[in-house]
Amino acid sequence: MTHAQPPYLLTPGPITTTQTVKSAMLRDWGSWDADFRAMTDQLCQQLLTVANARETHVCIPIQGSGTFAVEATLGTLIPQTGKVLVLMNGAYGQRIAKTLAYLKREHVVLDKGDYLPPMPDEVEALLQADPDITHVTLIHCETSSGILNPVSEIAEVVARQGRLLIIDSMSAFGAIPVDAQTLPFAALISSANKCFEGVPGFGFSLVRRDILIQCAGQAHSLSLDLYDQWQYLEKTGQWRFTPPTHVVAAFLQALAEHQAEGGVAGRLARYQRNQQRLVAGMKQMGFSTLLNEQWLSPIIVTFLSPQHPNFNFDDFYNRIKAHGFVIYPGKLTVVDSFRLGCIGQLYDQQIDQVLVAISAVLDEMQIESGYAELPEHNAVTA
Ligand SMILES: *Cc1c(COP(=O)(O)O)cnc(C)c1O
Repeated sequence: MTHAQPPYLLTPGPITTTQTVKSAMLRDWGSWDADFRAMTDQLCQQLLTVANARETHVCIPIQGSGTFAVEATLGTLIPQTGKVLVLMNGAYGQRIAKTLAYLKREHVVLDKGDYLPPMPDEVEALLQADPDITHVTLIHCETSSGILNPVSEIAEVVARQGRLLIIDSMSAFGAIPVDAQTLPFAALISSANKCFEGVPGFGFSLVRRDILIQCAGQAHSLSLDLYDQWQYLEKTGQWRFTPPTHVVAAFLQALAEHQAEGGVAGRLARYQRNQQRLVAGMKQMGFSTLLNEQWLSPIIVTFLSPQHPNFNFDDFYNRIKAHGFVIYPGKLTVVDSFRLGCIGQLYDQQIDQVLVAISAVLDEMQIESGYAELPEHNAVTA
């Protein structure tokens, strides 16, 4: 079915962007040109400012999707002799362990399953027991369940134990406050197409300058060498290889709109409002969230699939799409679920419309209620 208006994306990125962000891509830039070099510099300075990190960190953009930026950061920062504690509670933590296996970096895992956060005291005990661990990785918002992990408490423990923290803040930075002066991290990674509401094409890492300076020659890969990318940017103002010029232009517009909305606080307020409205409406239809309220993020929410025999995700998805909304499948290992994103150009009107659409689809599928029994070891009871 076609729509004059393309469907709204209730996904964790790419997300629905503004017309003005899209329009910013309607011209071409030379990558060596002073105009584009100034754009790159502005982008880096603004991102550092959002994290209050200008004094201590540098921003290195890297071509590709978010995973490229994660792999670049891990490969550049962790020496061959390093050992990593991977805090895992979903698909993105698993991806970090997989990346480290590719990079042949020694690592141990604290695996909390699908819906429990790593707790600061267990992290501390693991670090105390193993002095060989040099780095800890943490997912800020684990997008596979939507859980918001206790990042400040864990950062404090990691700092107290004298190890370095690498945060995958892909789906959080821009909407969840990050202050590098109070949150100790060696690196924080994010990308263009999540909470900053740009289009996909690059990721970036905010890395402590005093650490990065020691990372020459450590990377496993030429194109993913953050140190080299940084040095070249410092020397020439240019990315080493062809930059996604249109994506950068769109991102600068997205940053201006982020600022106009009130920066992180403004964006967080809207996403929180979206989340609350969405969860309340879904609950009215009988749906339950996977996570206890306490761990719900304003980024994306996982709902249990209704246990009604008529429910089928593909059918549900296609019918909702016909109403003008794209939802997201679940990414859990043990329970059937689907996800609704709160980020991107979504406001009360779209949230209300998607709720109406879901209600209509339940009727079409002859499902009276979204009810599903919570899994046994749900965070509600744990
Ligand atoms: C989106 C995301 C990534 C990167 O995914 P890409 O598909 O490579 O952009 C990494 N970590 C988290 C937590 C994410 O949400």
